[in-house]
Amino acid sequence: MNLGGHVNYLLEFTYLVASILFVLGLKGMSRPESARKGMFLAEAGMAAAIIGTLFHEGIVTYEWIAAGLILGSVIGALMAIWVPMTAMPQRTALSHAFGALAAALVGIAEFSLHGQSMAAFTRGALGFEVMLGSLTTTGSLIAAGKLQGVVRGTPVQFRGQQLVNLLLFAAMVGCFLHLLAHPGAAVFFYSMVALGFVFGIMLVIPIGSADMPVVMSLLNSYAGLAAAATGFVLANNVLIIAGTLDGFSGFILSVLMCKAMNRSMRNVLFGGFGAVRHTAQTQGGEMREIRLDDAALQLAYANKVVFVPGYGLATAQAQHAVRELANLLEERGVTVKYAIHPVAGRMPGHMNVLLAEANVPYSELYEMDQINPEFPTTDVAVVIGANDVVNPDARDNPNSPIAGMPILEVDRAKSVIVLKRGQGRGFSGLENPLFYKPVSNMLYGDAKATLNSLTQAVQQV
Ligand code: NAP
Repeated sequence: MNLGGHVNYLLEFTYLVASILFVLGLKGMSRPESARKGMFLAEAGMAAAIIGTLFHEGIVTYEWIAAGLILGSVIGALMAIWVPMTAMPQRTALSHAFGALAAALVGIAEFSLHGQSMAAFTRGALGFEVMLGSLTTTGSLIAAGKLQGVVRGTPVQFRGQQLVNLLLFAAMVGCFLHLLAHPGAAVFFYSMVALGFVFGIMLVIPIGSADMPVVMSLLNSYAGLAAAATGFVLANNVLIIAGTLDGFSGFILSVLMCKAMNRSMRNVLFGGFGAVRHTAQTQGGEMREIRLDDAALQLAYANKVVFVPGYGLATAQAQHAVRELANLLEERGVTVKYAIHPVAGRMPGHMNVLLAEANVPYSELYEMDQINPEFPTTDVAVVIGANDVVNPDARDNPNSPIAGMPILEVDRAKSVIVLKRGQGRGFSGLENPLFYKPVSNMLYGDAKATLNSLTQAVQQV
């Protein structure tokens, strides 16, 4: 009996199951209601892929695999437990860096083992794998550093930068083309790797932290394509499928984020957004503060209240506090809705994840296009740590750097209560005329503490 053949079928079958689970997982993640299930399906897919690989006939020893599995699992578990929700974007960037480094290292190992004897197609795939893997590693590390604040967040720019980047890119691709013609040219191979690492840094430093989420999903896409190229090098089907899914979903996400900010990909990558600290525009009017009791009265006697969460809700971890206040208002017969802007917070779906954690019903979450027509009939719009996504300048001022970005039009509500700690700007660094409008009232303080106090105050009404 040919056991090897059966093992091979088993391996390919587990890969097929894994690939189907990845596709179903991605589909699940496209809607908040099914996102959690989607994550579980994708996890099961990854488990199937790992278990299947353990039967691979090419495995020489299990000791190194066991060591890698244990080390990787421990690091992954610790990151999942200890990294706070607010640091999730930089944690994700680190994961991309690890994934891309793995692809680059596999490529280097393959070159040193079979570089001379590889078929031309495999050599081409290897080149893509190593180039994308190395530039994504350093690019993702810089992105993580910018988001964590350990690398300067504002764009690092200098004269002739784009020319330098172009030359670096050309040199890297030049090494690749030379390798296609001369398989054993190790100097060119390792130069290509080194240039990839440098190019990754140079690609990301001129981009400001505000645009890091877009950069990250683009790097995610590169990491996926590097994994797909690894699949071609190793003749591994699950890597090809998973890498391609990752590559294209990352790219689509980048495009969607650019659309939600009304910016082109070119502007995000080369525009140096946030390089110049925007000077305060002179606003007509003044910011008016509202007393807690008055805010509670407005809420308690409203017919319809719309909560508008932003990045400040995430930093304050105020998702449970807003849910409690919403519950109380609903008990009093107030209609409560949540307005979700596609780029509120610091990563796609940031607000959905937080509100889901606090068990806010999905039926109360409204996307921008659904909720905007409702603001004129809203008695109170409560802005919780949101700033850029409610900045009316994007709609009204064609000279604003964020002109054309779709916004939540809270200024059309009958009354607006803005919860923030002080005069802090949004991530774009721009002044927000909303705060000066006659309809707006400021309620200063940490969002969570303010919401808790509001709940108590509404209970007294
Ligand atoms: P934002 O414009 O960054 O504003 C956040 C506001 O929250 C600040 O004005 C800050 O004011 C306040 N805040 C911070 N901590 C707080 C706390 N503990 N309690 C109460 N308030 C607090 O946020 P946003 O409106 O959500 O906009 C997101 C920005 O990220 C946009 O510019 C968007 O383009 C960008 N972005 C997001 C994504 C994404 O995927 N989500 C992708 C790319 C870019 P104080 O300091 O005065 O409190």
